Amino acid sequence: MGKLTFKAYFDALREGKLLGLRCKACGEVTCPPMSVCQECGADELEVVEMKNSGVIKTFTVIHVAPAGLEDEAPYVVCEVETDDGPWLVGRLDLKPEEVSLELVGRKVTITGQELPPERHYPDKERRVVPLFKLA
Ligand SMILES: [Zn+2]
Repeated sequence: MGKLTFKAYFDALREGKLLGLRCKACGEVTCPPMSVCQECGADELEVVEMKNSGVIKTFTVIHVAPAGLEDEAPYVVCEVETDDGPWLVGRLDLKPEEVSLELVGRKVTITGQELPPERHYPDKERRVVPLFKLA
């Protein structure tokens, strides 16, 4: 049974490994982890290590960050189509003044970035987001 918890997913991401779930019915990969295949809805999934590469589809500069991340702004968030198929949202490893429309279509490698501890719940599990670096 391929069960991939968010904790296992984020622990691997922190080490630069991207884990996904391959559907035994249709062969598509689902990521981040879900309980059913995002392509066909089947629940027979196995954990696979995905390629840590993809292509930038869209990006946006975040000037007003959500609670707990105020000190991080401004930063760049982008959506990447991974080479295994699923789209991921994460941070782009560039400063806001370095981004331009030419980034769309650029290849990136995928790793993880640990975020600062949650200010209001400092004991909470450390959070990790996908971090994309230009290849
Ligand atoms: Zn499927």
